[in-house]
This record gives sequence, C-alpha cells and structure tokens, in this order.
Amino acid sequence: MDLASLLDRIAFDVEADDARGKVADYIPALARVDPDRFGMAVAELDGTVYGVGDWRQPFSIQSMSKVFTLALVLAQAEGADLWDRVGREPSGDPFNSLVQLEHEDGIPRNPFINAGALVVTDELARYGDAAEELLTFLRKESGTPTLAFDAEVATSEAEHADRNRALAYFMAAYGNMRHPVPEVLDQYVRQCAISMSCADLARSSLFLARHGIRNDGSRLLGQSEAKRVNAVMLTCGTYDAAGQFAYRVGLPAKSGVGGGILAIVPGRCTVCVWSPGLDKRGNSVAGATALDLFTTLTGWSIF
Ligand code: GLU
Repeated sequence: MDLASLLDRIAFDVEADDARGKVADYIPALARVDPDRFGMAVAELDGTVYGVGDWRQPFSIQSMSKVFTLALVLAQAEGADLWDRVGREPSGDPFNSLVQLEHEDGIPRNPFINAGALVVTDELARYGDAAEELLTFLRKESGTPTLAFDAEVATSEAEHADRNRALAYFMAAYGNMRHPVPEVLDQYVRQCAISMSCADLARSSLFLARHGIRNDGSRLLGQSEAKRVNAVMLTCGTYDAAGQFAYRVGLPAKSGVGGGILAIVPGRCTVCVWSPGLDKRGNSVAGATALDLFTTLTGWSIF
C-alpha cells in the first residue's frame, strides 16, 4: 500500500467536499482556530510516519488525552482498581451530561465521558501530577521533547469549567473522588490543553497497535489491557455517536473537541486526523469523512 499517495487522494476528496461543521466555542480559546485546517498522519509499526496537509501543525488534543491517561492508569500495578469507580458501557448521552450520574450513584458510564475521565485523572494523581505524568509520556513516545501545555487554552477552559466542576463535586458527594476537586480539575484541564500534531499523536499511540509495546520496545500494557483500551475506544470513543462511527469507519477511535480523531488499526498502524469543524455530537466532520475513506480504500477496518 502506497500510504503517501493514499493520503494525497484522501486529502483531495475531503477538500472537494465542503462540509466542515462548527468549531467548538464553549472553550473560547478553541473558537479562534481556522475551520479549514486539515491534516492527517499514518504511523506504521516501525515508527515510519506519512502525512498530508497540516499534519505537523500542533492543535489542542482535548479528549484525545483520555486514551493516554487511561493507559497510564491501567499500566500501574493497582490499575484494575479503576473499574470499581467507572464503567465500560457507551453512555448514549452527551459527553458532559450530568443526568446519568445521579441514576447510577456517581459511577460514570465509561472513562471517556468527562465524568469518567475525571475519575481516571483522579486515579493517575495517586502517582503524581496526572498532567505532568501524561506530558512526560507523550514527549517520550512522540519523540518531540518540546511538547507543552497551551496555557491560554488551559486558562480559558478553567474559566468555563462549571459543568466539569459540577460533575466532579457530584461524584465527590458519592465518595468517588480521592483528591480534592480543585486539584483534579486543574490536572484534567491541563491534560486536555496539551498541543500536539497528527504526527505526534499517531506516533504516541503506536503501543495500542502493537498490543501494548512502546516505541522503545518496552511493554506499557499487557496484551489484554491493550485490547481493552481499544475496545473502549470502539464503543465509547466518539461521544454518543460511537455506534455510527463504528458502522461508518470500523476502527477503535477517540475524538476531541479540538477537532482531532485518533484511530488504531491493531497489528498494522495508527491514524490521526485533524480538522476543527465539529458535528453536533462533537466529532470532526472532515476527520470522520477522511477515516471513512481510509478504511474504504485500504480495507483496514477491524471487521
Ligand atoms: N476539555 C474538554 C472538556 O472537558 C474536553 C472535551 C472533549 O474534547 O471531549 O469539556
């Protein structure tokens, strides 16, 4: 498969389709991004990366960070404790919804909705500042030592975080927070505010395509845990559109409101696409189109 030509073809087709969606504006700093940006990168198991368009342009990873914090928690000896505090079912509700939490006694449906991700951050905080742990890991895996938090995005989100604050305090009321809410929220907001390019994200997630093996050959996750992270991505990674996304693309994936979508082809490669315009559910419109084309043209869905 000539991946460079394939990516050119996908970029051409995406360009020809002018559907772009709407840039997220509930975090004001994200609203300033140009909706016409488009980049896509594929990383092969040996670390070779192919890209097209804005594939080297850093953007706000937002909820894509949740894949990595989940993996870092599961990599710990007590990692499985997490599953006492968060479920593994699709929510069918918006990512920042409060209603389900009350019905389910403060246990979030899955680790990728905001309530679940706050619990994951709280678990990771047992071992140090969760956002710093994540940044150290991502710098190493991406091979980009200059990766950093975007302070403007972090401040902007912190000033508009009442919903996430409400989710965290609500869970604290059910005894499902280990650390004080302001600490967890601060670490969560910074983890979401890391800036990375498609190339960085594709390289950093290769351990999920290699059944748990990092870029330096060491093991981060057992084979079963890597399978589990991929399974949760497939069923819960693209907000309350995960069913539609699996139907259309057929790969484990995680999206973020910065417009990125990361997808894993186990045993073969990782793919990251970025275009900031979102659909109503919060997934990048051009990103989903590009991944749909990718699996259609290659036949590399998991099904
Ligand atoms: N930091 C964002 C929030 O908590 C992440 C949302 C997302 O990308 O899904 O609202």
